[in-house]
Amino acid sequence: MNDEFKRYVGENIEVIFHPARCIHSANCVKGLPDVFNVKKKPWVYADGDTAENIAAQIDNCPSGALEYIRKDNANEAR
Ligand code: SF4
Repeated sequence: MNDEFKRYVGENIEVIFHPARCIHSANCVKGLPDVFNVKKKPWVYADGDTAENIAAQIDNCPSGALEYIRKDNANEAR
């Protein structure tokens, strides 16, 4: 399976997108249009919302096409 991915690096979170996995449910673009906007290039703006909100939205991606790496140490802080 083709599993190339792209990285979109923001200040507090890095978003990773695997195009071949995307089933175009549009959860991401409807949920956070300032971050996920297919009319823009690049289509992911990882500084478009808080890392918390972006991570929560990515957790709702049904296909696993989106992943993230928190850079704000939120995982360690809990
Ligand atoms: S939520 Fe996931 S599967 Fe749906 S369009 Fe976005 S990346 Fe693709």
